[in-house]
Amino acid sequence: MTMMTDLPGGPSLPQERRLVTAIPGPKSQELMARKRAAVAEGVGTVMPVFARRAGGGIVEDVDGNALIDFGSGIAVTSVGNSAEAVVRRASAQLAQFTHTCAMVTPYEGYVEVCEELARLTPGDHPKKSALFNSGAEAVENAVKIARYATKRQAVVVFDHGYHGRTNLTMALTSKSMPYKHGFGPFAPEIYRMPVAYPFRWLTGPENCAEEAAAQVIDQIGKQVGAQNTAAILIEPLLGEGGFIEPARGFLPRIAQFAKDNGIVFIADEIQSGFCRTGQWFACEDEGIVPDLITTAKGIAGGLPLAAVTGRAELMDAAHMGGLGGTYGGNPVACAGALGAIETMREMDLAARARRIEEIMKPRLRAMAERFPVIGEVRGRGAMLAIELVEPGTKEPAPQATAALAKACHGQGLLVLTTGTYGNVMRFLPPLVIGEDLLGEGLDILEDALSTL
Ligand SMILES: *Cc1c(COP(=O)(O)O)cnc(C)c1O
Repeated sequence: MTMMTDLPGGPSLPQERRLVTAIPGPKSQELMARKRAAVAEGVGTVMPVFARRAGGGIVEDVDGNALIDFGSGIAVTSVGNSAEAVVRRASAQLAQFTHTCAMVTPYEGYVEVCEELARLTPGDHPKKSALFNSGAEAVENAVKIARYATKRQAVVVFDHGYHGRTNLTMALTSKSMPYKHGFGPFAPEIYRMPVAYPFRWLTGPENCAEEAAAQVIDQIGKQVGAQNTAAILIEPLLGEGGFIEPARGFLPRIAQFAKDNGIVFIADEIQSGFCRTGQWFACEDEGIVPDLITTAKGIAGGLPLAAVTGRAELMDAAHMGGLGGTYGGNPVACAGALGAIETMREMDLAARARRIEEIMKPRLRAMAERFPVIGEVRGRGAMLAIELVEPGTKEPAPQATAALAKACHGQGLLVLTTGTYGNVMRFLPPLVIGEDLLGEGLDILEDALSTL
């Protein structure tokens, strides 16, 4: 992979960083004033610049600044912005029809996306899917399906888990501020368990997987009752919680426990899926075959689409009309998804994610040696992170993390922070980013760390 001059479409943006004004520039500041007047305060802004065009590894703002994209609009534009196949297929569909409602008169694109999902998701059992508009909606429907199929109510979730912003998915989400604070009461029958977070496991990382799994199984038995548990819901690589990789061995034990007890094991791969971690899905790294899998973000190159895919007998449990929604599986979004999947296959973007890890991880590790504010480097593929701490301790350093993000933004590097303690900087570059931009982004990060 060299400099991406053969970019698979997208606006033919020069793949180079360019700063022509201060960040934010005057036009962005003007628009920000209008935003403040017209848009609800609750809808936040990571970086106060307004986008004009984007493609490959670049987001260009309205002042003409070209920023290096290490965020992909939160793990969405893995194939790049306006990727050729996404534009081609979605435009053709736009010209044919924009909506009939899949529940009124269906169309081929919806079926084709479900066929692809059956092929791409782990396991060779018969699978079916249902399509929705957002990740939260997919998670809600996975829970509906699991409850209906098992005739049980309890749902087990984990510390640091994130599943969305609707009422049920807020309840499933771990972190109060900003996701839940003030928005209760929350849906009942949700039970939260510890997750095998090696860096913060009290007895150290060595026995983390075993101890955490034993605790979860014991707590489910004592507090919930396995026979009352409809579903265990987990992100195989936790996103908003801080890019936490559960200690190896933890997920297989939990999946086995679910299997032994007739509990539906749901993998929420909304952030980790679609080649992001160097596989089609993150749970493949430990050979896990979930009963249900939720997908969204990376699925359709930026168009809103989400899915629940799983064992045919589970997916078929609910009565006719029990699942759906006016816009679920919109034809333009389905065409976009088929374009994104085509791009991922043709460019082998899973391999590109592994290559991004190969380039980034050693550099991040070298930075961790140099700067004791970095407590840990972790993640897989193009889903990588650094956790920032008070040097010499494991005390979270959220202020340093915010300052670091701000310094990077000022130099034209778009980075996102995350984590239960707000002390994780995450890296989610588009999988089609050029190696030169990747290197330059890392240089900016390193400079910013040295001026912290
Ligand atoms: C983003 C996300 C969701 C919610 O998706 P929305 O499309 O924002 O509703 C759910 N689960 C995970 C793991 C996510 O990262």
